This record gives sequence, C-alpha cells and structure tokens, in this order.
Amino acid sequence: MVLNPKSASHVDDLLNGERNGHAIGSRLNIVQRLVKNNMSQLRYVPFDQLHREFGIIKDANKSTDVILLIESQAMLNSSNWHPERLFFLISSARHFANELRFEGFNVLYLKAENTSVGLNMAAAKFPTSTLTCVEQSSYRLSKKLSEAGAKVLPNDFFLTSRELFASWASSQKSFLMENFYRKQRVRLDILMEGNSPIGGSWNFDKENRLPPPKNYVWPEYLEHERDEIDSQVATELNMTPTNFWATTRKGALNQLRHFVDNHLPYFGPYEDAMALDSWSLHHSLLSPYLNNGLLHPHEVLTEVLQAFNNGSVPIASAEAFVRQLIGWREYVNGMYWYLGENYRDHNQLGATRKLLPLFLDAEKTKMNCMKNTISDLQERAWVHHIPRLMLLSNLALLSGVNPQEFLTWMREQFIDAADWVMVPNVIGMGMHADGGLMMTKPYVSGGAYISKMSNYCKGCIYDPKLRVGPQACPFTTLYWDFLNRHKDHFAENHRMKQQYFGLNRLADRADLSERAAQVLLGLDQGKI
Ligand code: SF4
Repeated sequence: MVLNPKSASHVDDLLNGERNGHAIGSRLNIVQRLVKNNMSQLRYVPFDQLHREFGIIKDANKSTDVILLIESQAMLNSSNWHPERLFFLISSARHFANELRFEGFNVLYLKAENTSVGLNMAAAKFPTSTLTCVEQSSYRLSKKLSEAGAKVLPNDFFLTSRELFASWASSQKSFLMENFYRKQRVRLDILMEGNSPIGGSWNFDKENRLPPPKNYVWPEYLEHERDEIDSQVATELNMTPTNFWATTRKGALNQLRHFVDNHLPYFGPYEDAMALDSWSLHHSLLSPYLNNGLLHPHEVLTEVLQAFNNGSVPIASAEAFVRQLIGWREYVNGMYWYLGENYRDHNQLGATRKLLPLFLDAEKTKMNCMKNTISDLQERAWVHHIPRLMLLSNLALLSGVNPQEFLTWMREQFIDAADWVMVPNVIGMGMHADGGLMMTKPYVSGGAYISKMSNYCKGCIYDPKLRVGPQACPFTTLYWDFLNRHKDHFAENHRMKQQYFGLNRLADRADLSERAAQVLLGLDQGKI
C-alpha cells in the first residue's frame, strides 16, 4: 500500500504535525499500524545524504518504511554558523523531504532538541521498526547512531570505501595524494589509454598556474530562484539568502550543466588564480551539492568525461577537475577516517594565538587580499581553494593562530564545510599542525605568490616585495619570521632547504623580527 502523497501538501505540514500532533499524525498512525506485522525500517537520512539513488533510501519500501530526517536545534544553535550555510543545509533537507513525500514515501521530518532526542522520538513512534542508516560522515553522528542501536550499512556517497582507502594508506611510507590519485585513475579507469594516462602525463599542473587574465569577460553566474520553502527557512533564520546556491536537486543539476557548458573548458589554466572582478572565476561551485548529497560524484564525473570525450574540453582542464573529484576529495575523506577521531587535536607547532579580528570582520584589516576574501566569504559563505589555502590558512599559520580555533571558524563559515573536509584540510594541509603526517612541508608563502596569482596587490597599501618597514607586506614579513621562529621544526626538512638557504642570507633579520612583532600586534588589534 502506498499512502497518497498528495494528501500532505508541504513539508511544513510535517513540522506542524509534529508540533501539533495532527496532520502528519494520522498519516504516520497508518504507517504505525502497517509496520506492526512487517519487517519495517526506520531509515535515517542525515542532511548530507540527500540523494534518491544512493544511501539508505535507494532500496526503501514505500509501503512499510519510514524515512527519518532530524533538524537538530542543538546543531543550529551550537556554533556561530554562517547564515547562508544554515539556510542551504536546512532548505535542501526540507525540499528533499518534500520530494520524497510526493514520490510516495512516508517521511518523518522532526525538529528535535538534538539528533539523539529525535532518534528516540522516532523509535518511540515506531517501536517495531529497525533503525537503519548508512555510515555517517562524521565521528559525532556515527556515535549518535551507534548509541541509538542503528544497523549501519556502507556509505556509497564516495567512490572509495573506507576499507579500500585504509588498505592503500597502510601500505604507504608517506600519504602522498599524487600516489593515491594515480591509483584512482587506474582503478576507476578514468582518462586512461590502457595503462597510460591520456595526454601522456598524470597531471598538467605546469599549464594550470596562470594568473587572472586581463580584460576578460567572465560568464554570468547562475542564479537560483527561491520558493515557498526557501522563504520559510529564511524567515525562521531571520536572514536574506543570496541566489547563488540551489536548494533542490533540480537546481544542483542546473549548476552542473552550467559549469560543464560555460566553465569547464577554462577551469584548468585559471584554477589557482584569484581575481578582483570575479568571485568564482571558472570554479564549478559544485562542492556544496557533492557534500550534502544533492549530487553524487559519479554523476559529476560522467558529465565531465562526456564533455571531454566530445572534444569540447582540453585535457588540462578535464584532468585538473578529475584530480579534485577522484583525487583530492576522496583522499581527504579517506584520511579523515584513517587518521582517527583525535587527529583534529594536533598542534605540533604549539600555536596559541586567538583568532585574528579580521577573520570576523573585513573592516579589521587594510590588507587588500584579506579584505576582499573575507568580504566574499561573509557574503556567500564560499571562496575557492587557493584563497582558503594561500590567504586564510597561510595567514593563520604564519601568525600562529591556534589550529583548533581556526578549524572551528572554517567549519562555521563555509557552505561546503563538512567535518571530513575541514579537519584534514585545516589540521593537515592548511595549518601543518600534525607534524607533517599529511604534508611533507607547510604551505606558507610571502606576498610574492599572492602578487603573482592575483590582482590584489596593485590596490594595496602594502608592497609584496618588502619584508621590513611600514609598507612591508604582512605576508612577506611573517613568512620569513615564521621560518626563523620554527627553525627547529623545518631547517632539516630537505624540501625546505632552499627557503632556509634564503633565510640565512638575509642581512636584516633583526629588523625583520621587529617588524614581525609590529605586524602580529597590529593583526591582534585589527589594525594591519
Ligand atoms: Fe595581500 Fe601583501 Fe598583496 Fe597587500 S601586498 S594584497 S597584503 S599580498
């Protein structure tokens, strides 16, 4: 028997029904009666597994099973989340629940004090049903589901199982992403000609380091229309969302098509560039949908490879994007599980500085690159991987911000910031807080790199070439000071020999230390 999906018109009926004890009540009472004599399942769907054909829903029985989603109030109130991020996650989940109901599923969408309370409420309502889910995407949620006695199936939202990754990682001397990526190319048979990579090279990084082009017309951004559910969520959150992020499967698919048609051919050459006249350049803007389940990596891969096979995308761009999708994304998720729950607590460099005021307010800095990046982040909850790494993380690392404070801030601010994404990216890559477990050397740079890869420096009061004096670029000053401060950690690192050779040749090290102290004080006071 399939309950009439048209009888419940809106996901808010579900919420009101839960609050008022009717509307949804009668519908779920029928299910309760139905399941008494059946092997019914209460299928839990977290807000990052919103796909009809993957996860715990893919083989659900519309007649007897109940699909459970929980909007945890504790999660909403636990952190200083970026409003755009909350809006995106909640509205996507409510749309998804609504779509499932219209398809004929029995959906229980609960607003609960926290996830555990919600799981208990659902179990009390369906005492004879078995609670099932697929592996959760964070340690925190995994624990909650385990405490609730859930039967847990493998997570198929990634292309690499946790077991497969662990078997690769445990056979490595160092966890080089490049080695993992090549294995993935071969295993998944992607961009391969027999045993060799298409184009004769595993990567085209050298071709993909162009600065932002001059006098260039960037394609229009895709904007997404808002509907009644979006308005309701925005009202509840007391915010006004931008139109840059879709909250439906249809919108996510539109974004995928828009990327492949308008940006993918040019993605590679400009993937590391930062530009004042474009906040997303040729980046896909697909990570939020990949990370909340509205898109599956296999679907994205299929579209990208089809465009490449049609001849509309050069190998340097196709390979660069594939590397992000089957390489970096899968590697980071694998490392999150492989390195364990306590990995997030690493602080090998003993960094204790409080989060810099400029991270919370773009007006607290005169640095043109940081001001623009923080403004972009405040507006849309997103900037691409190079400002994340070479501006935000670089400054936090160079100035000695506590890695756990910085991790919390990154988790709160980014629309695509799943725990599995941010913990390895911040602790391992951005902050080098793990003593080199993930990366063999820290990702630090002075102003020269930023000057080369962006057009920020021309309009800045600081000079990227100067390391001392009042006009010295804070990145440049702090870069040399960082090397000096952490000689014990890095001077013997063979990959940093050149940097230390350079440091040892500096004649103005006393001035440098003095300027670095001024810069750090100025950053603490929000005046640099
Ligand atoms: Fe940023 Fe330094 Fe360039 Fe200014 S000079 S924009 S602070 S890198």
